[in-house]
Amino acid sequence: MDGSRAPVYEKLEMFIGGKWCQGSEGKTEDVVNPATEQPLGKLPHASKADLDRALAAAQKGFETWRKTSAYDRAKVIRKAVDLFRQRADAIAQTLTLEQGKVLGEAKIEVTVSADIIEWYAEEGRRAYGRIIPGRMAGVRQMAVREPVGPVAAFTPWNFPAVTPARKIAGAIAAGCSIIIKASEETPGTCIAMVRCFEEAGLPAGVLNLVFGVPNDVSTHLIASPVIRKISFTGSIPVGKHLARMAADGMKKATMELGGHSPVIVFDDVDPVKTAEIAAAGKYRNAGQVCISPTRFFVQEKVFDKFADKFIDIAKNLKVGNGLEAGTQMGPLANIRRVNAMEGIVADAQGNGARIQTGGKRIGNQGYFFQPTVVTNVDEKSKLMRDEPFGPVAPIVPFKTFDEVVKRANALEYGLAAYAFTHSTATATAVADALESGMVGVNHLGISMPETPFGGVKESGYGHEGGIEGLDAYLITKFVTQIGV
Ligand code: NAD
Repeated sequence: MDGSRAPVYEKLEMFIGGKWCQGSEGKTEDVVNPATEQPLGKLPHASKADLDRALAAAQKGFETWRKTSAYDRAKVIRKAVDLFRQRADAIAQTLTLEQGKVLGEAKIEVTVSADIIEWYAEEGRRAYGRIIPGRMAGVRQMAVREPVGPVAAFTPWNFPAVTPARKIAGAIAAGCSIIIKASEETPGTCIAMVRCFEEAGLPAGVLNLVFGVPNDVSTHLIASPVIRKISFTGSIPVGKHLARMAADGMKKATMELGGHSPVIVFDDVDPVKTAEIAAAGKYRNAGQVCISPTRFFVQEKVFDKFADKFIDIAKNLKVGNGLEAGTQMGPLANIRRVNAMEGIVADAQGNGARIQTGGKRIGNQGYFFQPTVVTNVDEKSKLMRDEPFGPVAPIVPFKTFDEVVKRANALEYGLAAYAFTHSTATATAVADALESGMVGVNHLGISMPETPFGGVKESGYGHEGGIEGLDAYLITKFVTQIGV
C-alpha cells in the first residue's frame, strides 16, 4: 500500500434472483475490521420472505442452467474468472480489511480462488458417464451424470474467497444452481466474487447470495424441498447439526469440518529446515486454517534443535495490521478466537506446560495475539485435544514410530496430517498408517484445485477439489434402452 489512499470496502448487499438487494425487513449487522475493531459497513439480513425468493429463484435458475451445455457454462465461468483476476488487488484489500490476514496472503488466496474457479470451468466439461455392455443384442445401457439440483452452501470466515470459490464453481460447473450464505463476518469478498459471475452473464437465479442469523438461514433452506444438496465448511458441532437436517430430507451433503493436524518429525531430517517449514505453515492466517499443522511430534534426537528454531521464528514474527508493509501475521478474525487462545494457554499451563514464547493478547484494540510456542504439554490438555484455530503451537517429543502413530491417530479428527523423513520406507509406512483424509510428506502443500480435499472420521465427508469435487454436485442416472 502506498498509504495515500484508504482501501475501499465492498458495498454490502444480497443477490437474489439476479438482483442486488437489502433485507426486506431492514435487519442488519455490523461488519468489523479485526485489526481496528472499527465497523466497515452494515450487512443486510434475509427475512424468511427473502429466503423464499432465493429458493424460488434457485429453482428457476436450475431449470435454465441444467439445459445450458457444459461448453456454454464453461464460457460464462471463464469470463467470471477473468473479471475476478482483473479485480484481484481490490478484492485482496477487502479480504484483509474484513478478515485480518496479511495482504500478501490475501493476494495468494484470491489467486488460488481464481485457479479453483477456472479448474472447475474446465472440469465441468468432463462430467462423463459410461456405456455398460448389455446382455442382449440391441440393449444400450448408460450411466448418465446429471446435476443434483439447487444447492445450499455455507462458508466460514477464515478463507472468505477460497471456500465460496470451491462451492460456487463446483455447483455451477456441474449445472446446479446455488444459494450461498457466506460468513456474516467476512461477506465483502464473496459479494465481489458474485459480482463477477453476474457481469459474466450468469442467468438470474443460478447464483444467489444471502446473509442472516446462520441457524435461521440454514434451517429454512435445508428444510425446503427445493434444495437437493448441502455443502458446509466450518466446525464439527455445526457440521453435525446441518448433517442431521440434511438427513431428514435424505439430501446429499459435503461436510468440510475441523482438524488438529499432527506433524511427525523423524530424526533423519534437518530439524532447522523442517522447523522453518512447520512454523511458516503454523502461523499462516494466524493459525486459523483447518489444515494448519497443529500438533508437533518431534523425535527425541532432533527435538531441541527443532524447538529452538521454531521458538526463534515465533519470537521474531512481526504482528500487526495486515495492510501494513512488513507485517507477517495479522490479528485473529474475531474476539472469540482471542478468548479461545487465552483459554487453551491457561489450561495447558494448569496441566504443567511451559510457555516458551507468547501466550498473551497484544494490546487491547484489534484482536492480536502473540505467536506462541508451548512445550511439556500434557496430552490430556485442551491444546492437544481440541483444534486450536489460532497461533498456539505445542511441541512434544516421541521415541518410536508405533508410539507416535498411535498418538497422532488418537483424536476424532482426521483432516490433514504431515510427516517429515528422508526414508522412503518410513514415508510410505507413515502415510499408510495415518488416519487422515490428506497426508503431506516433507511439505505442507496439500490443497490444490485439481486434488481431492476432504477429511475422514469427525472431520467430515465428501471432497472439494479434484474430480471428486465435481462429483459432489452430480448424481448418476442409469438408463437402459432397447430398439423396437
Ligand atoms: P461456529 O462453530 O459457531 O461457526 C463456524 C462457522 O459455521 C461460521 O462460519 C458460522 O457462521 C457457521 N455457522 C454456525 N452455525 C451455523 C448454522 N446453524 N448454520 C449454518 N452455518 C452456521 O464457531 P466460530 O467461532 O465461527 O469458529 C469456531 C470453530 O469453528 C473454530 O475453532 C474451528 O474449529 C471451526 N472452523 C472451522 C473452519 C474450517 O475451515 N473447517 C472454518 C471456520 C471455523
